[in-house]
Parts: sequence; C-alpha cells; structure tokens
Amino acid sequence: MKNIRKAYGALRVIDDVSLKIERGVFITLLGPSGCGKSTLLRSIVGLAEPDSGEILVDGKDITRAAAHNRPVKMVFQDYALFPHMTVAQNIGFGCEMQGMEKSAIARRCTELLELIRLPDIANRYPDALSGGQRQRVALARALAPDPAALLLDEPLGALDLKLRQDMQRELKAIQRRTGKTFVFVTHDQQEAMSMSDLVAVMNKGRIEQLDSPQNIYANPATLFIADFVGATN
Ligand code: ADP
Ligand code: MG
Repeated sequence: MKNIRKAYGALRVIDDVSLKIERGVFITLLGPSGCGKSTLLRSIVGLAEPDSGEILVDGKDITRAAAHNRPVKMVFQDYALFPHMTVAQNIGFGCEMQGMEKSAIARRCTELLELIRLPDIANRYPDALSGGQRQRVALARALAPDPAALLLDEPLGALDLKLRQDMQRELKAIQRRTGKTFVFVTHDQQEAMSMSDLVAVMNKGRIEQLDSPQNIYANPATLFIADFVGATN
C-alpha cells in the first residue's frame, strides 16, 4: 500500500498509510476500536475505495479493480457462509466463479477439508455446524481460489475464550502449513503478540510502528503504543 488516505466527511479514517507486506508473512494490524483497521482491509479487498493512494499485489495495481477480480480474499467475524449451500458448495463457490472444472473443485475441497481437519462435513449445511467449525469452513472457502493473501478481520472476536485460544493455534498452524500471506486484524494485543511475525500498530488512521512482537514490547515507538501494548485487556 502506498500513501492510502480515506475520509468519511471530515473524519480522516486512513491517514497516509504505506505498508509493504512480504509473501508468506503473518502480519497483524493491531489497534483500538475505530482506528481504521477494517477500513484498511476493506480497501485492500475492494469493499471501500481509498480517496488516494495505491494498492499493489505482486507489482500489479489493483486500487480500482472490482472486488471479485482481486487476488486477495477476506474472512469476516460473522463467517458469512451461504446458508442454503452445503460446506462443499460453500468452499467451491469461489472456484466455480473462476471457471474451475468440477473435478478440480472437488479435489480442492477435499484438500481444504483435510487442512482444516474436518474431512467428514462436506455435505452438511452451515446451521449444522458449531461456531468453530463454521469459522474453519469460512477460512477454507477463502483459501479455495488460492489468493495471494488472506485478510482476516477480527475473525475470532465472536468466540468464547477457550475456543478463541484453540482457533488462534489452528489459524497459525494453517498459515504455516500453507505458507500463505495472512493479514490479520485484532484489537487484542495478546492475540497479536502471540500469533504474528510482524505487528503494525495503528492509531487514528496511521501506522505508528511496524515491528516484530518482541520489539514492540521492548521498544515501543510512542507513548500510545507503550500504553496500549502494556495494558492487559
Ligand atoms: P476499526 O476496524 O479499527 O474499529 P473502522 O475502520 O471500522 O475501525 O472505522 C474507523 C472509523 O471510520 C470509525 O470512526 C468509524 O465510525 C468510521 N467509519 C467506518 N466506516 C464508515 C462509513 N461507511 N461511513 C462513515 N464512517 C465510517
Ligand atoms: Mg473493525
């Protein structure tokens, strides 16, 4: 991202954000509610349009590309699975849109159900799944078209503590196994610190520090960060 800006009326939501993310990295945007995390993710995936700036993936400018043509996929907190489709149909949907062959879609689906360790649920409907299972299916669906990066907007926010911790480990393991670039968003500093290779701390629409979790703890760049990261939520 180069010099991204976005305002709603007089409110500057994204204030000149530039960020280069290397392939295969688990990076977290961490910051308090309202600091612009979701707006930044939505700009990358094509659900919000920046007022200025550029977004490039592998050197290709996608700033104005239609959402469905972007090589990035998003996972939301509320899963947003299609209720009238089976798990297999949900996972295959994106591949079908890309014109992938039926047999290839079936193979991909089997592979992804193995990855999320739910090999036996292909024919179930979302309402027959637990919260954790739905979240893993949403993840598989987003991974199905093999995006360059997966964007996750507080995906664990709705889960209770125990499940949330299980899912943190699960997500991390999936990221490692796939080698996929994950751009994760949370307001929970513990979650950011335990899961990420890199953390970008956001405050009022700006990235105040981009660093390893260790360095953010040891050498917070601003008072805000020292406060925010030092606090136990
Ligand atoms: P975060 O995800 O960090 O909580 P958001 O990106 O959702 O922050 O929101 C940042 C700011 O932009 C907030 O003040 C929010 O109220 C405002 N905002 C977000 N989307 C809109 C919108 N569509 N219209 C007006 N204001 C918005
Ligand atoms: Mg948000």
